[in-house]
Amino acid sequence: MPADLLNTIAEVRRRVRAARAQGGTISLVPTMGALHAGHGALIDAARRGSDCVVVSIFVNPIQFDRPDDYEAYRIDLAADVGFCAARGADLVFAPSAPEIYPEPQKTFVEVTELGDHLCGKFRPGHFRGVVTVVAKLFHIVEPDRAFFGEKDAQQLAIIRRMTADLNMPIEIVPVPIVREPDGLALSSRNRRLSPEERAIAPALFRALGLARDRIASRAASVGEARQAGLDALAKYPLIRVEYFEVVDPATMTPVDRIAGPVRIAAAVWLGSTRLIDNVSSAPPGKI
Ligand code: AMP
Repeated sequence: MPADLLNTIAEVRRRVRAARAQGGTISLVPTMGALHAGHGALIDAARRGSDCVVVSIFVNPIQFDRPDDYEAYRIDLAADVGFCAARGADLVFAPSAPEIYPEPQKTFVEVTELGDHLCGKFRPGHFRGVVTVVAKLFHIVEPDRAFFGEKDAQQLAIIRRMTADLNMPIEIVPVPIVREPDGLALSSRNRRLSPEERAIAPALFRALGLARDRIASRAASVGEARQAGLDALAKYPLIRVEYFEVVDPATMTPVDRIAGPVRIAAAVWLGSTRLIDNVSSAPPGKI
């Protein structure tokens, strides 16, 4: 079945309301396009138990902290619509920037504290832009459920908090990270890696795995676990570590000691490409 491509807020509202009038469950999968199997897993998860799956494709200008990153973000809308249809999506909502921001946005949604660490610390304004556009998409589509990847675990924690704090009647559903066979998490930015950088990139997942295993096998401290990961990454002169942290899995804020399940999250630069990844861990007997 082809997925219907809708470009305006009015059209998507009309179609979603018609589906709801028939008693249907509405699911939303927000994306920025350039779709790959990671997005595919979100659509598959949304498909289960939904009557109407809406995939939004919008490269949101207000979440980019660097103009060069925004300009380098290329999507092929026809290919993405085909991808959505093949995965069983019903509607693809791909608005233009003026459709979403007819005037410069003056109202922003900001989740305090949760964005002070990890990516939020290094990408000023990023989460404010993400949360604002997700809130707008939630008001436009009014889904029952919305699907987010654990790849962006801090984003997931922040969206959960925004939804709870603002009493939005939307279930936030997390989806596990989809990886290449060599462990590299799928990302639209992976295609920017040179062959040499691509060959090195799985070192990020391996370093996270080393830290994970230290914690799981002998209850290493935060410092020991971090050092194991940082030492592994230091072997690669092409890799520049932005952060490597052990965090609370619910809030994604750094912890001092490990008393239960944690997430280990990292961001690195390989040339001009920034990669993020994370894994879960827990000390022995605490899984
Ligand atoms: P993006 O298009 O990069 O904004 O991502 C849209 C959604 O897809 C977000 O919820 C991401 O967390 C999710 N996503 C991206 N890559 C992956 C992946 N490798 N595995 C699982 N989810 C992903």
